[in-house]
Amino acid sequence: MSDFYKLLGVAKDASEADIKKAYRKLAMELHPDRNKAADAEERFKEATEAYEVLRDPQKRAAYDRYGDAAFSRNARQGGFGGGFHHVDLAEALQIFMRDFGGGGGFDSIFGGGQRARGEARRGQDLRVEVTLTTAEVAAGTKRTLKLRTLGTCETCKGSGAKAGTSPVTCSTCRGQGEVQRAAQSMFGQFISVAPCPTCRGEGTVIKEPCEECKGEGRTKQEKTVTVEVPPGVSSANYLTMRGQGATGPRGGPAGDLLVMLEVKDDDRWTRQGDDLVYDLALSFSQAALGGTFPIPSPYGEEKVKIPAGTQAGTVFRVKGKGLPKLGTEAKGNLLVRTAIWTPEELTAEQKRLFTELAKVEGEPPKKTTHGLWDRLRDALGA
Ligand code: ZN
Repeated sequence: MSDFYKLLGVAKDASEADIKKAYRKLAMELHPDRNKAADAEERFKEATEAYEVLRDPQKRAAYDRYGDAAFSRNARQGGFGGGFHHVDLAEALQIFMRDFGGGGGFDSIFGGGQRARGEARRGQDLRVEVTLTTAEVAAGTKRTLKLRTLGTCETCKGSGAKAGTSPVTCSTCRGQGEVQRAAQSMFGQFISVAPCPTCRGEGTVIKEPCEECKGEGRTKQEKTVTVEVPPGVSSANYLTMRGQGATGPRGGPAGDLLVMLEVKDDDRWTRQGDDLVYDLALSFSQAALGGTFPIPSPYGEEKVKIPAGTQAGTVFRVKGKGLPKLGTEAKGNLLVRTAIWTPEELTAEQKRLFTELAKVEGEPPKKTTHGLWDRLRDALGA
C-alpha cells in the first residue's frame, strides 16, 4: 500500500465527486475480469481500499491524521493501515459493483462478474490481535506469534497429487481454467467467460489425490511468525503481513496476516495523540512552595520542577517524553497537569495550623486576572 491520494491520483483536497471519478476510471482499467496483468488484481484491491477510506468523510479525516507517516516506514512489511478495513478481492469487487455496477450494464461488459482465476486458489486472510503496553508503544516491539493455519502439504509439496503422480491438464478447458459461453443480455448476444466447471478454474485436475492432504495441497500446521511493531502505534492501526495467511489450495497463493493492534489503557497517563497527559495532585503547600516531583514517563522517571505559586490546571511540558510519532523520529510530549488536592479530614493540629494560615494567606482573586480559568480550560482541552 501507499499514499491513498497518490494511489487514486487525486489531490489532498479533492472533492468526493473527484475521488469517485478517479476511482471509477482506475477500477475500470484494473478490474481483474478485464485486466490480466500480473499486478492488476493487487492494484485493483489497493485502489478500492483507498477509495473506501477517502469516500467516507470520517475515515478520510482519520486517514489524514494518521495515514501518511504510517505508510512510509513499513513498506517492508507490506503496508500499515490506519484502522481501516483490509479489502480482499471479493470485497473489492462488491464495493465496485455497489457503487458502479447498477443497471446490469457492467456485468455484460465483463461477462458475468465471475471470480478472477487466481482468487479461487488464494488462501484465507488471518487476523490476530496483539495487545501492547504503553512502554511497548514507546519503544516498538517484536512479537513472536504462533498461528494454527493451513500450510503447504509436505508430502506432495502443495500439488495435491499422490507421490509419483502429478496434476494433469484439464481436458475440458485444455488448461485455460476458463470456458467461453454465448450468453444473452439486454444488449444482445455476447461471449461470456466463466471458470471451468471441471477444474474450478485451476487448469489442472488431480487423478490420484495425495493421501496426506486429500488433494488439497495443504494441511493444518502450526506456524511461527515474528511481527515487528514500530514505535508510536495506536489501537487504530493494524499491520498487514502479505502472504503470511493461510496457504491456498494446490499451490495457490497464501492470504495475508492482519495483525490488529490493541493498546492497553494505562491509568498513569491519558494519551492525546502523541502526547501523554499525567495528572499531578499537589497539596496546598506543595503548590504554594513549589518543589521537584518524580513523574513517570514510558522511558523511566522524570524529575519535574514545579515553581512556587503554581495554580491548579497548570500544564508543564516535558519535551520529547511522550510517544513517538508513527513513522518518524519525532516524539510527542509528556504533559504534567496539576490539580490541587484538598485534605478531606483535618487532624486537630492541621486545623489549628490552617486556621493560623487563614489569618495571613490573603484573599483569592475575585476576577480571572491570573488566567486561572483560561489555563484550566486549556488543560482540559475544552
Ligand atoms: Zn498432499
